[in-house]
Amino acid sequence: MSVVSEAAASEELFRRAQRIIPGGVNSPVRAFRAVGGTPRFMVSGDGAYLTDADGRRYVDLVCSWGPMILGHAHPAVVEALRAAVSRGTSYGTPSPGEVELAEEIVSRVGPIEQVRLVNSGTEATMSALRLARGVTGRSKIIKFAGCYHGHVDALLAAAGSGVATLGLPDTPGVTAATAADTIVLPYNDLTAVDEAFAEHPGQIAAVITEAAAANMGVVPPLPGFNAGLRRLCDVHGALLVLDEVMTGFRIGPAGWWGVEGAVEGWAPDLFTFGKVMGGGLPAAAFGGRAEVMSHLAPAGPVYQAGTLSGNPLAVAAGLATLRACTSEVYATVDARAGDVASIISTALTEQGVLHLPSSAGSLFSFFFTDAPSVVDYAGARTQSSARYAAFFHAMLDAGVYLPPSAYEAWFVSAAHDDEVVERIAAAAPTAARAAAGVPEPVPATSAGGKRP
Ligand code: PLP
Repeated sequence: MSVVSEAAASEELFRRAQRIIPGGVNSPVRAFRAVGGTPRFMVSGDGAYLTDADGRRYVDLVCSWGPMILGHAHPAVVEALRAAVSRGTSYGTPSPGEVELAEEIVSRVGPIEQVRLVNSGTEATMSALRLARGVTGRSKIIKFAGCYHGHVDALLAAAGSGVATLGLPDTPGVTAATAADTIVLPYNDLTAVDEAFAEHPGQIAAVITEAAAANMGVVPPLPGFNAGLRRLCDVHGALLVLDEVMTGFRIGPAGWWGVEGAVEGWAPDLFTFGKVMGGGLPAAAFGGRAEVMSHLAPAGPVYQAGTLSGNPLAVAAGLATLRACTSEVYATVDARAGDVASIISTALTEQGVLHLPSSAGSLFSFFFTDAPSVVDYAGARTQSSARYAAFFHAMLDAGVYLPPSAYEAWFVSAAHDDEVVERIAAAAPTAARAAAGVPEPVPATSAGGKRP
């Protein structure tokens, strides 16, 4: 008797995809290389669930890597898109929705006076750095190891996310000249930043940092780190770029800045956004004080453009999403993130699986490590990807879709209700046993925080 795989349709699609799409996917982490097996090809999403091509339903703890804060196919977003698409898909002219979305962003994030819409987080960070270089007339930038800012040439050095997942070195295709202008430092290490400014006087245009790092697993900034970056940038005449592509409009209405900078009384010169503000369509943005943003063409000399920037469908989905992100939505997302994190941690503890839960607002992840703390990329890399892979597959078999990499954050939406939490609770003990069955990780070689 032949056994039909539960993922037969996904397997067949993956076989076809691998022939005509490099690696079978259009973004590397989707390929399951870090966890093994066949990626599931999803055909629909509703609320907290995804359905694959084999008709299996999964609780979704990826939420499209962040955008789906309201859950899939939220009625307000679907309705806004229906209305927008009936008016055409792209005009190549300014349109009212762009103004409304820009106003919505400016009204939520106090320090932002002007905003430019783009199509992806990558474009947002790339453009923000060009602007910083144009404004300061300097070339070098500082980024932090394990922080991912999209696949911008200058920012791929020691990047997190897929680069960390696949263990890639600095990627081929980035010229030595481009890489030479990127200074990579350990996250959460202000001394290293201070020293870099001293080593390159008058040459550093900008420091770019994830508002809270979440692409090497979740590693929140230590108290005073972001404020310290602000202070050092001020002293040395560099711009601070706060990358809120992941945290923006997810960690509360004004992102991570709203819970840290607004409280402590500091602001970056430029913010970058993506994910939630596009409501699942390609929209992203960068913004800051008018004095800085007015250097952009056509107001100023720094060129930046896009055929589909401010696309009416993307703007409609983004506006509908932001407008539906009420304080109740944020409270629900926070509560659900806490519920899920504690269920997983309890299950792992009960099975004796060494792990370190980590969170920044409603973003969370688990390091399968014996390190007492993780504050940087060196610390994040002490984890056992093999244990995570075993955990991941057991959860997948039980109908819970986790990020297919130990280096990614987990996401919940406002549609994650009690039933969803119960499903996760039912699946977790078996998955924790599967993780326990994989040999212990090698002892931690670095708890991080110091320059290697
Ligand atoms: N910045 C951060 C912090 C991100 O997490 C990401 C993507 O995950 C990006 C930038 C790049 O965004 P995109 O994938 O839309 O290009």
